[in-house]
Amino acid sequence: MEKLLVSVVIPAFNEGENIELVHEALQNEFAGLSYSWEVVFVNDGSSDDSLKNIRTLANTYPEVKYVSFTRNFGKEAALFAGLESARGEAVVIMDADLQHPPALIPDLLEGYEEGYQQVVAKRNRVGEAKSRSFLSSLYYKTVNRLIQVDLHDGEGDFRLLGRQALEAILTLSEGNRFSKGLFSWIGFEQKTVHFDNVERQNGHSQWSLKQLLEYGIEGIVSFNQRPLRFVMYTGLLIMALSLLYISFIFVMTLIRGVEEPGYFTIISSVLFLGGVQLVSLGVIGEYVGRIYMETKKRPHYLVQESNVERDTYE
Ligand code: UDP
Ligand code: MG
Repeated sequence: MEKLLVSVVIPAFNEGENIELVHEALQNEFAGLSYSWEVVFVNDGSSDDSLKNIRTLANTYPEVKYVSFTRNFGKEAALFAGLESARGEAVVIMDADLQHPPALIPDLLEGYEEGYQQVVAKRNRVGEAKSRSFLSSLYYKTVNRLIQVDLHDGEGDFRLLGRQALEAILTLSEGNRFSKGLFSWIGFEQKTVHFDNVERQNGHSQWSLKQLLEYGIEGIVSFNQRPLRFVMYTGLLIMALSLLYISFIFVMTLIRGVEEPGYFTIISSVLFLGGVQLVSLGVIGEYVGRIYMETKKRPHYLVQESNVERDTYE
């Protein structure tokens, strides 16, 4: 009987030291399983020896596939490229830094065999910097209030997708990708398996605070128009309050005549409204900026080199 093909998709940005380790761990894992498998490394414009190491692996092992970008396009693009290139009936997405233990793959596959199109690996936050886990949990609480899809703390990209779910993800072609939201948006019955947080093996996390912040904003803005509504309601409320205040002052002036020139009130309302307007412009700008980027219809990434056979690269 033909064995089912499982693809493992791994975005890698400056993961030179980890490439071989991940491959070895996968080899060991799949040795005990009755699946055929392939791994798709996506080299996201690394400046270290990642590509060289991937090439070396690919020359030795037929199951090693890779796609290498012309520059760093970001993790979301790398993930997309990997998913497009994967040929498996089931696809496992994991990081290159061994924070996603390959030992969990049998559990993920078990979920797949039970018929789940999405099997999510959920981690706890053992050993993570207190400040980061605090900020994360705060973020998820806020976002879930705001957003129209559900996001869960500790559920990242480490997951298995069945063919159906994978095709669904690939049809969502937006340029500003926020995978966590997309995975949740496509639906399908999900199964969750749990694992302990693992510290990074080599190198360091490529996320700066600024990138995390931008990722956070992306998560809110790419999924709904609520911030726009919120700004509109605030504007209306402030307008209504100001109208009340203006009528009050008008009547007072009619009764008592002009009093002390109201320097304080004028300057405070000017400043406050100025602030509100700037914030609103910023929020609108976020959306307009995204429309602008989407209308360009630029490709998500450009490939310089690959051993995956495909007709075209979009
Ligand atoms: N990554 C990528 N492109 C980037 C940044 C990161 O492909 O621009 C990859 C990275 O090599 C790793 C995964 O995305 O395999 C997760 O990155 P990282 O470990 O830095 O993030 P964290 O685990 O801290 O969320
Ligand atoms: Mg990591």
